[in-house]
Amino acid sequence: VLCDPQTLIKDLNPQQSEAVKYYGQALLIGAGAGSGKTRVLTRRIAWLLAHGIWASQILAITFTNKAAAEMRERLAALVGSEAEHMWISTFHSACVRILRRDGDQIGLESGFSIYDTADSERLIKLIGADLNIDLKRYTPRMILGKISDYKNSLISWKDQLKTYAADYRPGQRGYQMGRFDNVEELFAVVYAEYQYRLSQANAVDFDDLIMRTVELLRTCPQASDYYRHRFRYIFVDEYQDTNHAQYVLVRELAGIDSGEQADPHAAGAGKVGPSWITVVGDSDQSIYAFRGADIRNIQDFEEDFPNAKTIMLEQNYRSTQTILDAANAVIAKNENRKPKKLWTALGKGDPIIGYAADNAQQEAGYIASEITRLHTEEGVAYSDMAIMYRANAQSRSLEEAMINANLPYQLVGGTKFYERREVKDAIAYLQAIVNPADDVNMRRILNVPKRGLGARAEGLVAMYADRHGTTFFDGIEHLDRIEGMTGRTAKPLGAFRDLMHELTDFAREHDAKPSEVVAEVLSRSGLLEELQRSEDPQDASRVDNLSQLQSVAAEFEQNTPDATLAGFLETTALVADSDQLPGENEDSGKVTMMTLHTAKGLEYPVVFLTGMEQGTFPHSRAMEDASELSEERRLAYVGITRAKRRLYVTRAAVRAQWGQANEMMPSQFLDEIPEDLIDWKRKEAGMERMRGGWRSGFDDDDEFGGWGDDDDFGTSSFGNSSFGGSSYGAHDRSYGSSSSRGGSSHGSGRSTYGS
Ligand code: ATP
Ligand code: MG
Repeated sequence: VLCDPQTLIKDLNPQQSEAVKYYGQALLIGAGAGSGKTRVLTRRIAWLLAHGIWASQILAITFTNKAAAEMRERLAALVGSEAEHMWISTFHSACVRILRRDGDQIGLESGFSIYDTADSERLIKLIGADLNIDLKRYTPRMILGKISDYKNSLISWKDQLKTYAADYRPGQRGYQMGRFDNVEELFAVVYAEYQYRLSQANAVDFDDLIMRTVELLRTCPQASDYYRHRFRYIFVDEYQDTNHAQYVLVRELAGIDSGEQADPHAAGAGKVGPSWITVVGDSDQSIYAFRGADIRNIQDFEEDFPNAKTIMLEQNYRSTQTILDAANAVIAKNENRKPKKLWTALGKGDPIIGYAADNAQQEAGYIASEITRLHTEEGVAYSDMAIMYRANAQSRSLEEAMINANLPYQLVGGTKFYERREVKDAIAYLQAIVNPADDVNMRRILNVPKRGLGARAEGLVAMYADRHGTTFFDGIEHLDRIEGMTGRTAKPLGAFRDLMHELTDFAREHDAKPSEVVAEVLSRSGLLEELQRSEDPQDASRVDNLSQLQSVAAEFEQNTPDATLAGFLETTALVADSDQLPGENEDSGKVTMMTLHTAKGLEYPVVFLTGMEQGTFPHSRAMEDASELSEERRLAYVGITRAKRRLYVTRAAVRAQWGQANEMMPSQFLDEIPEDLIDWKRKEAGMERMRGGWRSGFDDDDEFGGWGDDDDFGTSSFGNSSFGGSSYGAHDRSYGSSSSRGGSSHGSGRSTYGS
């Protein structure tokens, strides 16, 4: 039973209802944050349904699966069970559905598997070995980042081969790479080989989902006809974050030719005219450039789509005037943007609360105490409060403060600190040092970082240990007695044994402090080096996490007389345990913690924006590049506009990195907020008082925070083959698997700080 159309617009403002009712082929609803874009998009779908179009004709693309589920729910409430026939999903899930149905046309059998990042890496390693590629120099992550870039830009491996390695045939052995310093040739060959082996395995990676769907639509008229007839109405939320491949996909699905001579009115026999397309977005909220998002997609919408109409929404329904004024003042500092008017009828509201802490622990402690106060004194529900930060590594001190204050919280996206792979790896080393009989941890690190000890080597040792009733490491101690051991295995195994001896001796003989052992493990094992050499932004964030671990150990020493390594391990284990308090799968009743990237599209009555420091946010690596700084500023705009009633901005004057205290200047974004909007509960902090007393501790490897919302995406919980909505993690990766913001310019914070 469809609802009365008038009820769909009666509580909307004139621009909103104009957008809902607009009758025409291409519509951009472009507007500032909180102006009801997502709401209008949902209503517009319902409006069209109420006017006789079929649910099956609708394709709505959202940024996350969570957003898709919400939209489906809302539409079901508006139009009933009809909503089930709509495709409401992320780009990736929509493409999976298309490829499952029609992928056979481009050589994909419908049972194809989807490789996650780990699978892809394994594949690159195999290829690297076969082609004699120096994977130390060209790490799998770096190669995959490059491949991801190609795919986001729809650059085919065939073209790359033609240009850079015309003689290479995928599957070929013994190919002589011209010279290894010809990077383009190397990438072209590996890209081709990677695609070849994926297809041999009947597999695709995340970026393939988009690229291969485009390929299908471009090369197979039956398929493109089918989808053009089917999806007469296409909707895209968060359009500002689409990349080139997604942009082309939308055009292909809509039947709008990508060439210059596009003629929207051409309708041949059996052909349908272009579908209607509605996109909504805000160019000020474009924050995924590092994953290939192209802000021009939204900026050029009117030129790109024939007869396009733009409707701007100007009334914000989410935030108080104070919050909006702050957001507007910050984003106004970006160049080359169209100024937007954004106003609210909600009134001035409370001032923004500012707090300058001496260090990250104090910052986190203040936040926890405010949350407690808001909850007990003002009755604010925990689930109405959110803590946001620039990089996942910052969550650690915040989590600890929440645990200490006994506050329920959930970490959205990203793995909890002690569950993160690299942190677990480092801790496994420490465990193995403290207790060499700990077979699980010993085996975990046997080949971490990669040292050529695969399943076979592990199996041989395990079998020996089993037969002789001894520990795994004891087996390694007797490696020359192990049957079937070849030189190729014995050598790295011996090296691993020596490494563990060295580390254990270091810990015992030097009576080393936990933080020193951590440092020793990170450097001697090669864990750190492997990540540092990588150009993948995700690895930068992993490096940050290891830095954090070292800082935790240093803190532990300060607070614990006679601190031992075993004692340190116990505390880390306890923190991880208390993380898993009751209420696992209910997400209400808890304070939400997440990165700013993850917060896009969401709203909370109370928001804490933390780590407002130069070098933390904006990120140090963005501070010297105008366009990257603009992107950081958009991220600040996103963060500020998540708040409905109350906004807190906090900073720490000193933040620990690599166990060292670094002075942090207040974020320039704080200065950009008009002074009279912020009520500083504490304005001056440690650094000002101690000025001159601190030695700035930067060195070239010092960095903090990672590019983007890395962990969310990198550790997403896709299965290899099942893409059903429920198999996603809380957050779907709507963008490519990895990215390749090129070389990492470390330590750019230094010049700003002077010393
Ligand atoms: P963002 O840019 O952050 O994605 P948005 O433009 O998509 O924001 P919505 O999330 O759709 O904005 O709306 C922001 C808030 O304002 C929501 O709580 C929504 O329910 C409310 N809202 C939007 N329009 C109206 C309206 N006409 N009357 C009352 N509330 C509204
Ligand atoms: Mg929205």
